[in-house]
Amino acid sequence: MRKPFLAGNWKMNKTAAEAQGLVKELLALLADTQDRDVAICPAFPCLAAVAQLIQGSKLRLGAQNMYFEDSGAYTGEVSADMLLAVGAEYVILGHSERRAYFGENNEIVNKKLKKALAKGLGPIVCVGEVLEEREAGKAEFVVEDHVRGAFAGISEAEAARVTIAYEPVWAIGTGKTATPNDADSMHAHIRKVLSALYSPALAENLRIQYGGSVNDKNIDELMRMPNIDGALVGGASLKAESFARIVKFIP
Ligand code: PEP
Repeated sequence: MRKPFLAGNWKMNKTAAEAQGLVKELLALLADTQDRDVAICPAFPCLAAVAQLIQGSKLRLGAQNMYFEDSGAYTGEVSADMLLAVGAEYVILGHSERRAYFGENNEIVNKKLKKALAKGLGPIVCVGEVLEEREAGKAEFVVEDHVRGAFAGISEAEAARVTIAYEPVWAIGTGKTATPNDADSMHAHIRKVLSALYSPALAENLRIQYGGSVNDKNIDELMRMPNIDGALVGGASLKAESFARIVKFIP
């Protein structure tokens, strides 16, 4: 059985004070959460403040990115050790915005994934096609390429610690959601790829989140699909009520 995993990607939003305000609201709304893993991923400058507030609660902390080197002259970058030291357990890797605006490709995502796993972080690896690729009938091919690229050279034991987030780029921040059936069939395709790369058992057990305009209205339907194990939520994770309702999806 795969435990549902709901994560909020706050992107470049919220100062530390604003982040603390949102976390306090979330803690109150999510106090009785059971049987689901919940993570919030604030921007780097907010991690320490948020970590303090969520200590001892069910909320877990994630970062939105990291670099693949341990330390050194990499101005502006943040290492896995720095994230761990501040209390992060998860890290989002290969988000489509990183791929589109910051030149991340499969090779970079693979290096980051290897480092995150070696350091003991829980990586959330984002994969997904852009609109032109979907319209050209290449969505499955692109997603398979992202999965194979990210997992290259990674052992089955390590791969088992990864969460994949399927995020069709055309659905991110646009209000357009993939239909539950379309999302589910891509998740099934990802399991097929993982089964070929590793084993049917790994493919069955690995958690795959859906991301792309998930909100408090569409979450229940998405979570009823057999291959959807959770959500990576952008915009709707910035308001306590909507994220709490997403976490409390009705199966
Ligand atoms: C995301 O950034 O991971 C995301 C899915 O954003 P949104 O929910 O706003 O579409």
